[in-house]
Amino acid sequence: MIIRIYAILCCLTAFLHVSAQDKLTVIKAKALVDVRKGQLITPVLIYCRQGKIEKVDSGPNIPSDAIIIDLGGKYLLPGLVDAHSHLCHEYQYELEKVAGANIVTETAITDNATRALIGARNARDMLLAGYTTVRDLGNSGENTDVALRDAINKNWLPGPRIYAATRALSPIGGQFSKMTPDARKVLVPKEYSEICGAEEARKAVREAVFNGADCIKVIVNNNQLSLNQEELTAIVQEAKAANLKVAAHATNGDQPALNAINAGVNSIEHGYTLSAPVLKLMAEKGIYLVPTDRTGVDRYQQRIKRALEAGVKIAFGSDMYYYDAQRNRGEVTVSTYHAYSQSGMSNAQILRSATMNSGELVAGPGKIGLLEPGYLADIIAVDEDPLVKVETLEHVVFVMKEGKVVNRCD
Ligand SMILES: [Zn+2]
Repeated sequence: MIIRIYAILCCLTAFLHVSAQDKLTVIKAKALVDVRKGQLITPVLIYCRQGKIEKVDSGPNIPSDAIIIDLGGKYLLPGLVDAHSHLCHEYQYELEKVAGANIVTETAITDNATRALIGARNARDMLLAGYTTVRDLGNSGENTDVALRDAINKNWLPGPRIYAATRALSPIGGQFSKMTPDARKVLVPKEYSEICGAEEARKAVREAVFNGADCIKVIVNNNQLSLNQEELTAIVQEAKAANLKVAAHATNGDQPALNAINAGVNSIEHGYTLSAPVLKLMAEKGIYLVPTDRTGVDRYQQRIKRALEAGVKIAFGSDMYYYDAQRNRGEVTVSTYHAYSQSGMSNAQILRSATMNSGELVAGPGKIGLLEPGYLADIIAVDEDPLVKVETLEHVVFVMKEGKVVNRCD
């Protein structure tokens, strides 16, 4: 608890005293983790100006007017990117004690103001844990993700850069279990945009755009209902017209994912049991897999092995949305890499998934996820070499977001 309070104070203090962005800032450290190659560059200097990386160097001649941040023996990494977060969603397992309830109850009893405040707390904890960007994929009530994104952008509170989805598009009933028609009418629209037919699909995307979405989340299948090919194709066409990417939740076999792939989505979320041919198709089309896995589940592990063999690009996604009494949202989120380790991903592959790959999926090429000239200066530091000991990711000691130091605890 003391450590957590210290970390928060540390963050908030630094939040108020950001480095001057327009001046040259040089970060000195023992090494930079080149996630693209899976090797270290050492020693290293990163030159930053106006929120971007200007150059990466090892040379001794630092301009005399530069602000120097000397991180001594630390290892530098790109800021982490979670391609599947739910910052404004806090599932309480105790609610399962209410018969048949869970997210239905949560939707009924948690208003949008509370959700925004839950999101503000989670955003701060995510940033402290090293996440400088998240793609927030729904379950945030009525546009609380957009309000949170805007508040962070205005510097009202600390948090990662957010790519917000607003309400997820879904088949009838969203992801809720069976409920009365009256309850459905009131509760489902608070959380989902129900679709039946291509015209409704187009309308739902346009509503999301109007509400401020940066990306589109579609629930391809839930329970016995799935969106069909025509609906998915309309969603992707409409999203592309608005220059938005589409993240497709697809579970239960190959067909839901295949329909989404044929429609042209950018990522398949979960895809717990995807077969080798479908994964190969994804690799050919450059569609990312976002495995939101938990540890100890054999079918998830086998699917990651198949994905690696097929050459699918894997982007880290935590899908973290539950309350944890012991750990804050950032701490729980970062620990989800353990499932990737168990599935046979190397430390370099895990780091790539959580930086370069998720960065490109979420923001497009050349913006975030690498420490190279032209990229945003989203930089974190850890005490040990993460290529050897990936557990060090759970103890991020320095966070810079877009050239501003937001946390330093060393
Ligand atoms: Zn999710």
